[in-house]
Amino acid sequence: MATFKTQVVSDRQDGAISLAVEELARGNLVAIPTETVYGLAADATELCAVQQIYTVKGRPSNNPLICHVADIDMAKKYVAVSPLANRVMQFFWPGPLTLVLPTRPGFAIAAPVSAGLDTIAVRCPRSETARQIIIELGRPIAAPSANPSGKLSPTSADDVLQGLGGKIPLIIDGGDTPVGIESTIVGIVDEKITLLRPGSVTADDITAAVQTPVFDRDSQQITAPGQLESHYAPSSRVRLNATEQQAGELLIGFGEVEGVLNLSPSSNLEEAAHNLFKFIRNADKRNPNCIAIAPIPNQGVGIAINDRLRRAAAPRNQ
Ligand code: AMP
Ligand code: MG
Repeated sequence: MATFKTQVVSDRQDGAISLAVEELARGNLVAIPTETVYGLAADATELCAVQQIYTVKGRPSNNPLICHVADIDMAKKYVAVSPLANRVMQFFWPGPLTLVLPTRPGFAIAAPVSAGLDTIAVRCPRSETARQIIIELGRPIAAPSANPSGKLSPTSADDVLQGLGGKIPLIIDGGDTPVGIESTIVGIVDEKITLLRPGSVTADDITAAVQTPVFDRDSQQITAPGQLESHYAPSSRVRLNATEQQAGELLIGFGEVEGVLNLSPSSNLEEAAHNLFKFIRNADKRNPNCIAIAPIPNQGVGIAINDRLRRAAAPRNQ
């Protein structure tokens, strides 16, 4: 693997976007801010660039990537957008919602992006910086979270530097990511919507917007290959639904369960999502025997938070 002196450039610095676009056009990887978490971006139409994403992350080759586009028209060049998919995009894009849709014949996206499937996951990010980079490049970018595979997703440029420093030439620093957890993913086949990964856009939000039910993916089946059980793993063990701190533990609270850190003293689930990975990283750095985490209500964004917490607490597979 090539080594680099990783440069960190603020997205407010003049020329930052052009610098990112130059690297991408050269076939290199660039970590970029989005509203969810930082993404490890490559030109999605360049095979060698996309292959590097898998190498740098140590990502299994059967785990497909999300293709980020500038708008609905760009998505339509690569995937078949049904009337229902179009309505979902109109309502939620740009934003933290990814749609898995059938690939159009003769498509130009590099094969490893879809990991051999006949579908592609597409999203138009709300982040101005991410969108400007795609517009200037003029092509979609493949971008999974910018962390070594299996580790916590990065919510700051510093998180990216700690995980991937020396392995990529450039990180665009856009500050802390506002949402803090990865995008919601839905599949749309035969005008039926299936939730593949919960996120800040909830199934209820989608149903309300397009007046269509959202089905749960069959929990017995790994529909989205990335949904392997142990993921988002800190080094310390994790105990869920904790209401008090036991010996050797560090408690992350929520609402009235105070803790050393509190995801949201006012029980605001959006705030808790924003703080989730940051606080787990913080707790992990203090190296406790166990990170205990207060119960999170399983409603709204709480469903996505609990999904990430279950994975963080699951038995490790490596
Ligand atoms: P990440 O970008 O690391 O958050 O991971 C992207 C996730 O999107 C993957 O782990 C998959 O679960 C999901 N995904 C991407 N493309 C597809 C696809 N074509 N079909 C189903 N799931 C997908
Ligand atoms: Mg990821």
